Amino acid sequence: MSHPLIVGRQQADVREAPPPSKDRIKAHKWLTLRCQSEYRSQEATGFELYISKVAEEKMRNHALMHVEERKEVMGLMLGSIFRYAGREYTVVRDVATTDLDATEVSVRFDPNAFEKLFACLDDIGFRYVIVGWYHSHPSYHCYMSSTDVQTQRGMFNMRCHSAVVIDPVNREIEAFYLEEGKVRSRPFAIYWDEYQSPYYGTTVRMRHTAEAPCQGAVTGPR
Ligand SMILES: [Zn+2]
Repeated sequence: MSHPLIVGRQQADVREAPPPSKDRIKAHKWLTLRCQSEYRSQEATGFELYISKVAEEKMRNHALMHVEERKEVMGLMLGSIFRYAGREYTVVRDVATTDLDATEVSVRFDPNAFEKLFACLDDIGFRYVIVGWYHSHPSYHCYMSSTDVQTQRGMFNMRCHSAVVIDPVNREIEAFYLEEGKVRSRPFAIYWDEYQSPYYGTTVRMRHTAEAPCQGAVTGPR
């Protein structure tokens, strides 16, 4: 089993391709009013971050699965980096996680569960780069705490790396990145592939399983 590396942009192959077209993107429905207005101002020029509908649902459902016990969740975001018309953007296609060591205000991968994470990564059916991470703040809104910033600086300190924070209680989501060491909010779009239904429902059912997203059955029925 090969252990994955978090690949910096210079090691990743950056391919030339246009971003998802405007008829295949949408704002996330959990954006705050401020983020909605940032989304609208970014829409014309294109985004630096596109998250697939499937990855978004997995992250959101993962956070919702543990909302009653108010536990944080986290995982890695997997995708690709592209260039188009002189601009770089990142696409998150899927996510991976494993057993967590979590409380209301902290979360980390269970140190005994890395093999499970690697197995989960081995099952990903496409060539990916780890382009960031997600975690939840059950009830205390989306921002980067000092620990979050440390994680970002230590592991995801390139412009192409994003941190998605989800508050499943207040139903908020925001993405962040580092620019010259400072945390910035990053507007992003949800996209779907041509063969997928563009339907973007308003309800997500609570899941009462203990399964991690990569083990399937986590994406809620529409
Ligand atoms: Zn945090």
